[in-house]
Order: sequence, then C-alpha cells, then structure tokens
Amino acid sequence: MPVQKYRSLQIKLTPQRLAILSYLNGNKTHPSAEDIYKAVQKQYPTMSFATVYNTLEALRDKGNIRELKIDPAKKRYDPDNTPHHHLICVKCNCIVDIHEDFDLNLPGKLTRGFDLIGKSIEFYGICRKCK
Ligand code: ZN
Ligand code: MN
Repeated sequence: MPVQKYRSLQIKLTPQRLAILSYLNGNKTHPSAEDIYKAVQKQYPTMSFATVYNTLEALRDKGNIRELKIDPAKKRYDPDNTPHHHLICVKCNCIVDIHEDFDLNLPGKLTRGFDLIGKSIEFYGICRKCK
C-alpha cells in the first residue's frame, strides 16, 4: 500500500496506523474495532486496542471512514465513504453494501423544510447464510 495515498489524511502515520489503514483499504466487511485489532495484532503483537480505537476515531474525524451505529452490539467502520445503502442481517449482523441507486423519495410535505442532499437507508432482514 503506497504511503503517499495516506499523506492527505493529515494524521501522524506510524507503522501501526499504516497497518490499520491497509487492513481497511477496500475492506467490505464493515469491521468493528475488535475485528480490526485482532487482524492487525497478528502483524504488530504489541499494538494496544487503544491505538486501534484512537486511529479509527482520528480517521472518522477526518471524514475518511464512516462510523456505523447500526449494529446494536458494537460500532462498525466503513472505509467506503461514497454514498451507499446497507442490508443488515438481524441474526449474524453482517452488513452488505447496496451501491445501486433506486427510487425512494421523501414526499415534499415530510421534508420539514430541509433541502435534501442525500440519503442512506438501512434495510433489515435475514441473510442467505442465516436462512
Ligand atoms: Zn446472517
Ligand atoms: Mn458500506
């Protein structure tokens, strides 16, 4: 993973932080902080959970990753910050992306005077594996 790609993040790039960034790069599993900690610890056994968590908070504050609060058990992180929707399995808590756009609009009288700029919708159900 080229370091240059992350220079624009304006966070201090330590080897541990680069390992976290490269784990997140292109990751579509919407991992929790614990998942990320477990994965990166294999490479950096001395890394603390606090380092992982602080890095995630810094990346979130810079708008580089999205923090998802749709899993009741734990916060999940999405490195994909292009607009998209999610399908969530209520049994295994897997989160799947929907990148296609579809027709779903708020009727004018429900916008409460807002000028709408986007939407992100969560669909709940039972995934193929859990059925
Ligand atoms: Zn499932
Ligand atoms: Mn997503």
